[in-house]
Amino acid sequence: MPSSSQAPTSSARPDEAERLAALRRYAILDTPPEPAFDRIVRLASHLLGAPISLVSLIDESRQWFKARQGLEVSQTPRSIAFCAHAILGDDVLVVPDARADRRFADNPLVTGAPNIRFYAGAPLRTPEGHRLGTLCVLDRRPHTLDDEKRALLADLSALVVDALELRRVNQVLGDMAMRDGLTGALNRRAFLMQAERLFSSIRAQQRRLSVLMLDIDHFKRVNDTWGHAIGDRVIVALTLVLRATLRKGTVIGRLGGEEFAVLLPEADAQRAIQAAERLLVAIGGASVPGPNGPVRFTASIGIGSLAPEDTDFGTLLQRADRALYSAKQAGRNRVAVM
Ligand code: GH3
Ligand code: MG
Ligand code: MG
Repeated sequence: MPSSSQAPTSSARPDEAERLAALRRYAILDTPPEPAFDRIVRLASHLLGAPISLVSLIDESRQWFKARQGLEVSQTPRSIAFCAHAILGDDVLVVPDARADRRFADNPLVTGAPNIRFYAGAPLRTPEGHRLGTLCVLDRRPHTLDDEKRALLADLSALVVDALELRRVNQVLGDMAMRDGLTGALNRRAFLMQAERLFSSIRAQQRRLSVLMLDIDHFKRVNDTWGHAIGDRVIVALTLVLRATLRKGTVIGRLGGEEFAVLLPEADAQRAIQAAERLLVAIGGASVPGPNGPVRFTASIGIGSLAPEDTDFGTLLQRADRALYSAKQAGRNRVAVM
């Protein structure tokens, strides 16, 4: 790097860790282009008469562009980013001629491609006050920016933040619609949707897939003896055991009250039995606090494994359900396969 003056470091700001955490919460880095942001950079370029416009997000050591007009690269090191300077304040940063500005004159983006001369960047300030990046415009010729244009850029940057907020709210709502409120597991509808999708791709590639159906034994008794609140805690405890015992990323659905289903890609019946036995052992070691000491519980598990004649996920799930029934019939707290 040519000089330290052009490299705002993370230590430059005390709230940098919080700023980065805020940026992470938007879950936007490295996502594909989206029309809402593309439109704004097109407008910015047009309204401010500059060929390049970017929605730049300042990550720990890079700037990454959510939207770009007139520039090919999708990111640059943070150390050479004009936008890294712009987020140090709340005002629009204007650099009329970078070659005449000692902060930027020897910047590789100035001395080489894309040969930036003019820069104007308005911070993307979140409602909590974090400056995530900028909406900026650039030109290969020097420019000035009158107050009206400056305000216009600030307004457009506020629109970018609005789009970021809307996107985040939609993500949260989408997640809530997919998940069961008590356990955080996928709800029945979301589980089945994901299962159908996985089923189709696995079947097309002739890979293996097993599904477990799991149901707490004599759960009515738990409720009747200890009350509904402890019953709920047992359901949560079971979910925690599933998460802790199964590989990270395993698709787990709460199909109904105390009934769960688990997808095991790449597992044949034998592997699925091993996984189910492991689960029963882990469930045997779990408990929730009750008025007279720990309340323990058991579960039964039915397994269905993908067979060549299975044409939809429903068939597979039905087999797991029949297996579950036979595990119950055989005395509960056990595994059965169909
Ligand atoms: P089995 O071993 O045959 O599965 O017996 P079971 O008593 O577990 O079976 P059953 O399906 O008859 O009872 C399930 C009970 O789960 C009935 C219902 O009141 C209770 N239940 C369903 N959803 C919830 C819930 O969210 N919380 C609590 N606490 N209880 C629930
Ligand atoms: Mg039950
Ligand atoms: Mg049940």
